[in-house]
Amino acid sequence: MRVTTAFSRMLALDGVRVWHVAFGAEAITVSLAPRRRALVCPECGYKTMARYDTRPVVSRWRHLDLGIWRLELTSTLRRLCCPSHGVRTEAVPFARAGSRFTADFEDLVAWLATAMDKTAICALVRIDWDSVGRILTRVMSTSIDLTRLDGLFRIGIDDVSWRRHHHYLTLVSDHDTSRIVWGAPGRDTATADSFFDELGEQRSGQLEAVSADMAAAYTNSVKARATKAVICYDPFHVVQVRREAPCVRGWVRGPPRWAVAAAW
Ligand SMILES: [Zn+2]
Repeated sequence: MRVTTAFSRMLALDGVRVWHVAFGAEAITVSLAPRRRALVCPECGYKTMARYDTRPVVSRWRHLDLGIWRLELTSTLRRLCCPSHGVRTEAVPFARAGSRFTADFEDLVAWLATAMDKTAICALVRIDWDSVGRILTRVMSTSIDLTRLDGLFRIGIDDVSWRRHHHYLTLVSDHDTSRIVWGAPGRDTATADSFFDELGEQRSGQLEAVSADMAAAYTNSVKARATKAVICYDPFHVVQVRREAPCVRGWVRGPPRWAVAAAW
């Protein structure tokens, strides 16, 4: 079997064929040629048979490593003129618009981001910190589940902080699926309101229960926007408030007496 045929089968990339493979000191470079005659806009999918000019655009992408080898793909692409986006280099089916990485590589990084911190990802896949952020943005913009806000009945709203509580992120979770469905910077009423804006009046109206901490920022928003929902306070925050505010002692059944004495 020819090496180009072997790589073509092994990589199984849509819309291209392998015409050359070069082994370098640290990387394998696979040269590709587009199979399709039509040119596709990377922004909107507009198709045309007309090239904008004859100037070739040499493009490279990092693909998933092959054993100890770094794998680079390269192809000479054409340019088209999209009625909406102007002159663009044609899209390829295996990479997102404007990316130096293949979609397979980016999907791996995005999956790793759900299981490990950014520093570990940089060391494992050998890319820099900023590239991880840009990859996550691209994957989110093209792969996010547009139906994730449908069928919400019992949700939770809470915040997380980083950099020693200097930055906050509001997260909304679906209690029925235990999945995060929405997030945005900030932890005030306006942030929660922006979630309900995206959720819309109809879907907000079908919410049955919303759990939140006892901060007024979230409860004000929930009361105004999800009028049929019961607001639930989880035991953790109730205990926290009782510890932090002695004046409400006796308001709810709290932790054991010895625990309260130790905390106060
Ligand atoms: Zn376009």
